[in-house]
Amino acid sequence: MNETSRNIPDQRYGERLTACRQTMVEREFAALFIGVGPDLRYLTGFVGEATERLTFLVIPREGPVSFVVPRLEVEKASTAPLVRAGHAEVTPFEETDDAPALVADLLAHRQLSTGRAAWEPIGLSDRLWAMHVLQMQAALPGRKFERASVVMRDLRQVKDADEARLLALAAAAADRTVDGIAAGPLVGRTEADVSREIRRRLIDEGHDLADFAIVGSGPNGASPHHDATERTIAAGESIVLDLGGTLAGYASDTTRTIWVAGEDSIAPQPEFGLVYALVRDAQARATSAVAPGVPAEQIDAVARATITSGGYGEFFTHRVGHGIGLEVHEDPYMVAGNTAPLAPGMAFSVEPGVYLPGRWGVRLENIVMCAPDGATVLNRSSLDLRVVRG
Ligand code: ZN
Ligand code: ZN
Ligand code: ZN
Repeated sequence: MNETSRNIPDQRYGERLTACRQTMVEREFAALFIGVGPDLRYLTGFVGEATERLTFLVIPREGPVSFVVPRLEVEKASTAPLVRAGHAEVTPFEETDDAPALVADLLAHRQLSTGRAAWEPIGLSDRLWAMHVLQMQAALPGRKFERASVVMRDLRQVKDADEARLLALAAAAADRTVDGIAAGPLVGRTEADVSREIRRRLIDEGHDLADFAIVGSGPNGASPHHDATERTIAAGESIVLDLGGTLAGYASDTTRTIWVAGEDSIAPQPEFGLVYALVRDAQARATSAVAPGVPAEQIDAVARATITSGGYGEFFTHRVGHGIGLEVHEDPYMVAGNTAPLAPGMAFSVEPGVYLPGRWGVRLENIVMCAPDGATVLNRSSLDLRVVRG
């Protein structure tokens, strides 16, 4: 497979299903009901929007896997790679059918044929709508339900070679977007206008969807998840740019803080330069700490120690990172309390920040992958402070 292919081979889905069922055995799940969303995409390759119509991949621990879909989705479901490869059969229902009862019935048959105990829980995907959860609880009274993420997390947080390739392609496209914006012009434009340009560029650079485009100019940069507003960007202020989208389903997410000098080449206050250097140092140290076996919380601790020793600890108000893949925020989280060890193939952000209310903020974010010998950094755009003239 070449480096720029956006395709995941069909056989991969069969491998994922096998791994899923092994984990189900270890965790003693009777079945998983996976609704439309990232877990379903991971297992089947099916891309869709959750709706009021129940759409479930029903995975009993043993026996055939059923993809239960409304009649109008049959054609689409049949072309999902997992189905195409013969690992799941499509089970359609009509508009007038009781779909939850049909799913309950399917499970009862599987259990009868395998003698599985009724006390074993059923895993429901995290993104399932409450209406479907309540319907299934009513259709299977007395049954214990748990989060399917107990199983899915183990699978999804370690990326295979295809996923790693797509994350790298998404990161490179996000980097080109940052470079394009940092080339200016920015002075006199509104945050909202720049945000629209970011979204356009994300698509032009190869994303399927532009997901977010934070433009926090001047004091707005002190709010980490600031939404772009009609505020006009002026010379002599900083901007926090945090942007991302998805490419073949895989997310990008990168942040750069830039300096708008304007034609008069206004220099930043010394404190801004100091904080920028501190955040950059924290980002570099945390990245260097990445290695297999290191507890996830250690990555946060390293960044936090650096910023605290510089005197700005109380202004670093969020965890240092989050896992990334089919979702922009997913396991593993780099946060105090998460003692789970990093493993080769895990992908996550390293994004320390310092936010001074009413003044400005600085954040620098790269996506990294844990490799056998340390971190592989997917974002390659420069971490030097960029100075925009216009
Ligand atoms: Zn964020
Ligand atoms: Zn971000
Ligand atoms: Zn992030």
